[in-house]
Amino acid sequence: MREMQADILILGSGGAGLFAALHAYDRNPGLRIVLATKGLIGKCGCSRMVQGGYNAVLDPRDSFELHFRDTIKGGAFLNNQELAWTLVTDAPERVRELELKVGCFFDRREDGFIHQKPFAGQSFDRTVHRGDLTGIEIIARLTDQVFARDIAVLEECRGVDLLTTTEGDRVVGAVLLDMRSGELLAVNSKAVILATGGAASMYKIAAPSFDKTGDGMAMALRAGAVFIDMEMVQFHPTGLLAGDSRLSGSVLEEGLRGAGGRLYNALGERFMERYDPVRLERSTRDMVARAGYLEIMAGRGTPAGGVLLDMTHLGAEFVERQFPGMVERVRDIGKDLAREPVEVSPTAHFMMGGVKIDRDCYTNLAGLFVAGEDAGGTHGANRLGGNGIAESTVFGARAGDAAADFAVQTPLRPASPARLAEIEKRTLAPLLRAEGENVYGIRDELKVLMWEKVGVVRNGRDLELARGRLYELMERAMQIGVRARGSRRYNLEWNEALNVINWITVAQAVAEAAILRTESRGSHYRSDFPETDNERWLCNIHLVRNPDGSLRSWTEPVKLTRLRPEDVGQN
Ligand SMILES: Cc1cc2nc3c(=O)[nH]c(=O)nc-3n(C[C@H](O)[C@H](O)[C@H](O)COP(=O)(O)OP(=O)(O)OC[C@H]3O[C@@H](n4cnc5c(N)ncnc54)[C@H](O)[C@@H]3O)c2cc1C
Repeated sequence: MREMQADILILGSGGAGLFAALHAYDRNPGLRIVLATKGLIGKCGCSRMVQGGYNAVLDPRDSFELHFRDTIKGGAFLNNQELAWTLVTDAPERVRELELKVGCFFDRREDGFIHQKPFAGQSFDRTVHRGDLTGIEIIARLTDQVFARDIAVLEECRGVDLLTTTEGDRVVGAVLLDMRSGELLAVNSKAVILATGGAASMYKIAAPSFDKTGDGMAMALRAGAVFIDMEMVQFHPTGLLAGDSRLSGSVLEEGLRGAGGRLYNALGERFMERYDPVRLERSTRDMVARAGYLEIMAGRGTPAGGVLLDMTHLGAEFVERQFPGMVERVRDIGKDLAREPVEVSPTAHFMMGGVKIDRDCYTNLAGLFVAGEDAGGTHGANRLGGNGIAESTVFGARAGDAAADFAVQTPLRPASPARLAEIEKRTLAPLLRAEGENVYGIRDELKVLMWEKVGVVRNGRDLELARGRLYELMERAMQIGVRARGSRRYNLEWNEALNVINWITVAQAVAEAAILRTESRGSHYRSDFPETDNERWLCNIHLVRNPDGSLRSWTEPVKLTRLRPEDVGQN
């Protein structure tokens, strides 16, 4: 196996990975920084897909306290309040850095002040944006900045597993797979920053970019990192339904409902009248997603398994003017959003849970830093729109700073040769099996299982069933045989085998935590426990994976360091 040495290895090039690289370099330009990313830098991940924008307190009439309160209320009080406070107080600094140092142009008001638009769940209009292409602006300029520095970039090069010392007390790098050549590469580094963007793509209908398959979370689970809130998966109510098209699951933005869009089931009923007669389609994201899901599951969905989003009563000219991006997206599947109802379904969007971190992205494993969607705690039980890209840039920057300091103080230590050999063997195994399970079959079974049993509406019986099936699927995944064994170069089937094992690894943690939380809170809805139970469940579920693959769990009360439910009348 080829070997390489670095001070800091960063996995992922979304908002978190790119900010980490810039901050680590600027903190100490003498450091050897390697950034490896599964996609093409500037083109992959979900940060680039951010349309809505970035929440930050900039207007003197707004305040940190208001943004913080919105974030905690949105998160149903499950948030780590110190992480949420850090998000809120660092975000304005990052927006200024994005404008003044990185070179982003955000929309401005006539008086020259940055324009901030309203977003759901916010008590003040604080969402900074560049039209509806905010993510492209941020990621393109950040990418330019990375190229302008002496940072080694490895594209289409995926992290496979973390390396540890022989004593197992430190993370000291990672094994990478160069997807272009099929070669494995061992990077021995003082610090690793994981920023691979979560695993919501494990569901049948999902919004994230295709390069994200839970790799970072699975790597961290296998290495013994502590996770929290894994049951908390956010579903967006209006994902496009387009059969086998790659656009299936992609988000039709919340503004459509905000502007008056209506939802109908296949019987022509405006079903939100039954679920939230006051707010109707303008109800919260989790409520509308749940309502649509229940309609579909009750057999009142369309033949393709969706409900209908109707904008026609608002007038074609209005819809085309207000939502050009959405009209174009729908046109790509041959439909006309301005003139006909369009099939939609809830779509898996974001994971609030992840690796437990502190304010500087340290984890329980020395040498491992985690930022962005791979980390848990900031958003609690539900993320507010606009807080995702803020999280990845705020904590990416902090991870870069902290890892740079750590790398200066820490000598490079060698990786355990036994672990290296074991990772190599495990990674190559699917390629060496002449006969074996079919990767695509297992993948499709997994996604349907997660959708139906660990999805928008959950119950104890289905979750138990899913847990059992996930262990069976994992056993089968360990027997996958790649049929296209001729070459390791760009071997998509082999890569999918690695993806599937990672998805199942993370799915097991989601199912386990969902079984444990016998209440409903935020995005976690249990039909057998429909009420929120602050008496018993104002706590975070922690999970760690044992070496045999089983999961150990415990709960810890949420530390209500700054705000309590009774302060906002929610006890
Ligand atoms: C459609 C959509 C719209 C959204 N709109 C908004 C919005 O308006 N406002 C908002 O705040 N949030 C929004 N979000 C959420 C937001 O995109 C995320 O919170 C944020 O981008 C996560 O950043 P990240 O850096 O953690 O991950 P990402 O930006 O997703 O980056 C992950 C990176 O990891 C790489 N990677 C994956 N696996 C590996 C591996 N094994 N090895 C190396 N690299 C790997 C990927 O290639 C990618 O470069 C939206 C999400 C979606 C899906």
